[in-house]
Amino acid sequence: MPFALWWIRRDLRLIDNAALSAALAEGYSILPVFVLDPHLMAIPAEKRKAFLFNGLRRLRQDLMDRGSDLLLRKGDPREVLARILTESGAVKIFAEEDYTPYAQRRDQQVGQSLPLQRVLGATVHHPSAVVKSDGKPYSVFTPFSKVWKALPFPSSPPDSAPRWLGDCPRLEGEPIPEGALLSGFPASEEEANLRLAAFLRESVGTYAENRDRLDLPGTSMLSPYLRFGMISPRRAAWLAYQCIREAQDAESRRGAETFLNELVWREFYHAVLYHFPQVLKTAFQPSLRSIPWREAPDDLHAWQQACTGVPVVDACMRQLNNLGWMHNRGRMIAASYLVKDLLIDWQDGERWFMRQLIDGDPAANNGGWQWTAGVGTDAAPYFRIFNPVSQGKRCDPQGAFVRRWLPELARVPLEHLHEPWLMPEDVQRASGCVIGKDYPAPLVDHREAKERTLRAYQSSRARPRQ
Ligand code: FAD
Repeated sequence: MPFALWWIRRDLRLIDNAALSAALAEGYSILPVFVLDPHLMAIPAEKRKAFLFNGLRRLRQDLMDRGSDLLLRKGDPREVLARILTESGAVKIFAEEDYTPYAQRRDQQVGQSLPLQRVLGATVHHPSAVVKSDGKPYSVFTPFSKVWKALPFPSSPPDSAPRWLGDCPRLEGEPIPEGALLSGFPASEEEANLRLAAFLRESVGTYAENRDRLDLPGTSMLSPYLRFGMISPRRAAWLAYQCIREAQDAESRRGAETFLNELVWREFYHAVLYHFPQVLKTAFQPSLRSIPWREAPDDLHAWQQACTGVPVVDACMRQLNNLGWMHNRGRMIAASYLVKDLLIDWQDGERWFMRQLIDGDPAANNGGWQWTAGVGTDAAPYFRIFNPVSQGKRCDPQGAFVRRWLPELARVPLEHLHEPWLMPEDVQRASGCVIGKDYPAPLVDHREAKERTLRAYQSSRARPRQ
């Protein structure tokens, strides 16, 4: 049997793996390969790398259970793959297509000299398939999602892994680096499938209602697994459709539809990055490219270290810094606070999130930041500015989320919890939370900050930069 390399990148799974299935369907025995690319390894993102390494270890185990193995080598992908082809005698390389500008460039270069076949798998539909009738890409979510949903769904995904990947030569590889254990996110395909199944069984019915609640486990927490392809987006969307079809009542149906919509948001941001790679460098909207941001390193540091003095923002940032994950509503609140209250460049926040997030994904993260800053494709209007106190009251009504992450506020009465700076001094003392001593005073006054931000955005609109 001829054999081929399965070049694993962001598809750490055996079930419904399009690259692996394509290679098997063409009759190849499979040699699974992962290349530790120094360019990607230099990115400071320790938690995400730990999740990747843990996931690779587990994938290797799953491969060994099938009589196969995982070959890991370090170096420039083109050189490493060329060497493996020569050493092994493999005749082809199969890989799942990745849409980031770096991955696109890398794959083009590899494909120029090596027999690389890229296969659709990182999204349900290829970004170039979800376009307007004139072939132009969408920059607004709703029409994108309508076209996405109208496209025929690719055939039902397999729900089990191939049992046998064929016989291949064993080559000398490097050990998979050790990754720290991450609380709450065991890195494996099995965990991804268990998580999705539990979410669809227990929580999807109330997802539409609870997904903005910071204090409830109302969302799937699947993002790191989708980020590294430990579950295929096709399988996630297929199961979401199944829930929609089988829903017993309107609320459950709405929950499953809302969940599917979030998966489509993921595809939308992949498509935005694919068609408009410049978004990684600048605001999508030219009129908002010259906002006079504040140079305020102390304020940026306070935000990063969860010391802004606004409890819901600090609780979200502590969740991020501890878990490497943050609730979607938390991301919106924390991002909005940095940009609209502190008037700090959204790209500083984007970088910090990429450093901290296990699910850090250039497309979704950039999309989320540009959306929140009001400068992106499908952005909230720039003049709509979140009030962090009312967000806290609405999304954490009993204060359980804030108390969990900010134990220094544990005894603050609920009526003061989301704006403790208004607490009378005797209540501060009684609750063991003296503002300025046990918990910081707020960095800015929200109303004044809002006016400052509106002026800054208006000045950019008056002098747009192309
Ligand atoms: P669920 O609510 O269970 O949603 C299911 C899946 O849909 C998610 O796992 C995710 O893959 C996808 N999804 C949900 N919402 C979005 C969205 N708004 N945009 C794109 N995909 C979405 N998501 C990332 O995966 N990586 C990031 O780096 C990232 N950075 C973000 C930065 C900001 C400022 C904002 C506002 C959002 C960001 N998101 C990012 C989107 C979203 O916050 C997370 O996907 C979500 O919180 C993950 O939790 P979950 O798996 O429980 O989501």
